[in-house]
Amino acid sequence: MSKRYELPPLPYKYDALEPHISAKIMELHHSKHHKAYVDGANKALDLLDRAKKGEEIDVKAVMRDLSFHVGGHVLHSIFWPNMSPNGGGKPGGRIADYIDREFGSFEAFQNIFTKAANTVEGVGWAVLAYDPLRDTLVVHQVEKHNLLHLQGHTPLLVIDVWEHAYYLQYLNVRPNYVKAWWNVVNWDDVDKRLERAINAGSPV
Ligand code: MN
Repeated sequence: MSKRYELPPLPYKYDALEPHISAKIMELHHSKHHKAYVDGANKALDLLDRAKKGEEIDVKAVMRDLSFHVGGHVLHSIFWPNMSPNGGGKPGGRIADYIDREFGSFEAFQNIFTKAANTVEGVGWAVLAYDPLRDTLVVHQVEKHNLLHLQGHTPLLVIDVWEHAYYLQYLNVRPNYVKAWWNVVNWDDVDKRLERAINAGSPV
């Protein structure tokens, strides 16, 4: 049997990010939505295990499910520690230098990232990623959990803009959620991810 994915614990309590993100959203988002992606990924692994033993399965459909659910699991696992009750403000450390170098200023980066988050079509994510091919940062969008992904890039800062991330509190007004979310961004976590990504080097 293949190794399994596991739901990581939240690094703070459900109400820790209030008033910016409500406890009810956090509880449902972590214990129901994220868990469903972990379960979905493991179910796809189960089916692939059966295929290894010669059973006929719909390989294409299972691999599509695996991509969707693993994408959801990985992005949520980064999203939780990307936030903190002591977050917000501007970054320091190496991430600040990289942002300034790539975008010109923190404000220019924040403007681009906010626009990326607000304009994801349907459901998805905005992502600040490390591009190891150019040793710099890039902002991009992910539709659903797995489409428009940039191969080989490492996500450093992600925001979930599926409606389940904000509808209970912000209704249909996604920009208000994105604006509030900046108050909980954990820049220390983002900086640590950048250090790890730089040290990991390029896959090509
Ligand atoms: Mn989500």
